[in-house]
Amino acid sequence: MAFPERARVQEIFRGMWITFKSMFEKPVTIQYPEVKRAVPARFRGRHVLNRYENGLEKCIGCALCAAACPSDAIFVEASENTDDVRFAPGERYASTYEINMLRCIYCGFCEDSCPTEAITLEDNYELSFSSRADAIYTKERLLVPVPENGKPTPQEVESGIFTRSVPVMADPTD
Ligand code: SF4
Ligand code: SF4
Repeated sequence: MAFPERARVQEIFRGMWITFKSMFEKPVTIQYPEVKRAVPARFRGRHVLNRYENGLEKCIGCALCAAACPSDAIFVEASENTDDVRFAPGERYASTYEINMLRCIYCGFCEDSCPTEAITLEDNYELSFSSRADAIYTKERLLVPVPENGKPTPQEVESGIFTRSVPVMADPTD
C-alpha cells in the first residue's frame, strides 16, 4: 500500500479506536433541562429579594445597591412605611425595584453593598428573554414567596415594633 493510503487507513483506525474507548467512559453530558447541573457554592446567578420569617421585605429602599452597580442596572424608588401599611422594617421600603438583566454583569456588588442582605444572587442560571421589556426584572418577579409562617406584604402591625431599618443581629457577620 502506498504511503498516502496507509496514512489514511491508520487515521481511520485511530478515530475508530477513540470512539470505541469512549463507549466505556463515564458520560460528561447531562440530560438538561430534566437534569440540572449543580453550581458551586459561590455561583452568582439570578438575583432574589429576600423576606424576613414574618413575611416583611428585607429591602428598605436605600438604593445602595444601585449606587454600587457598575453597569447602572438597578433602579430603586422608595416610599414611606406606616404601621397600618408596612412592607419592611423601618421608615422606608422599595415601592419600585427593577434590575435590567441585559446590563447586569453578575459581579455581586449589589449583594455586597446591601445593609440588610435583601438582595442576593442565587443559583438560577436560566435566563432567557424574548424582548427587552422581559429582561427587566421587577420587584414582583424578584421577591421570594412568603415564608410558611409569614404574612404577605403590606402588613398591619403593632406600632413601635419595627422601628429599625436594620434589625439588631446577634452576629452581624453571620
Ligand atoms: S450583579 Fe453587579 S451588575 Fe448585576 S445588578 Fe448587581 S451590581 Fe449591578
Ligand atoms: S436591595 Fe439592599 S441595598 Fe438595595 S435598596 Fe434594598 S436594602 Fe438597599
